[in-house]
Amino acid sequence: MADVEYLKSLLRPFPDWPKKGIVFLDIFPLLRDPVGFETLITHFVHRLTSHTIAKSPTKKIDVVVGLDARGFLFGPIIAMRLGAAFVPVRKKGKLPGEVVHAEYEKEYGVDVFEMQSDAIKPGQNVVIIDDLIATGGSAKAAGELVAKLGGKTLEYLFIIELTFLKAAEKLDAPMYSIVKID
Ligand code: 5GP
Repeated sequence: MADVEYLKSLLRPFPDWPKKGIVFLDIFPLLRDPVGFETLITHFVHRLTSHTIAKSPTKKIDVVVGLDARGFLFGPIIAMRLGAAFVPVRKKGKLPGEVVHAEYEKEYGVDVFEMQSDAIKPGQNVVIIDDLIATGGSAKAAGELVAKLGGKTLEYLFIIELTFLKAAEKLDAPMYSIVKID
């Protein structure tokens, strides 16, 4: 798939960042490239409109949930193209009003994700989007927030998946990723 190879070529690896032994994949060169950015959005929208999960009339996607912070950069554009709502999952203490919480494991200790309590209505169909899935801890917590509000997660979508961490096993719905790093 030429578009996948093109998107992959726009990811920039940073060895030993943010600390020694970690190769951080930077997605910002992709967003700086107008053709790359458009290809990314089109790829996700095509997935969500042509795949069987989206074809059933009962499976219309109502809400795109984006994870703090890079999920905010492309999630809203995909939501708008689908005619769906965009809902952010934010780190603790950033959202006003009543919120639901879910904890997830970080390398050192736990962190907390929050979503506004009225952001998703019971029975709504949701997809969850972020730039990269590593251990799957943050995506799992986002799925828990959706479930707490009575939403149904149809799929988790990522630009990049670190396949060797086997995050898919943790999630309560199928996962789709464009670039797989073995
Ligand atoms: P997980 O919770 O799956 O272990 O980690 C995923 C989260 O860490 C995502 O929100 C993602 O943005 C961030 N992350 C971890 N490593 C990388 C990386 O190499 N590149 C990018 N762009 N994000 C990363």
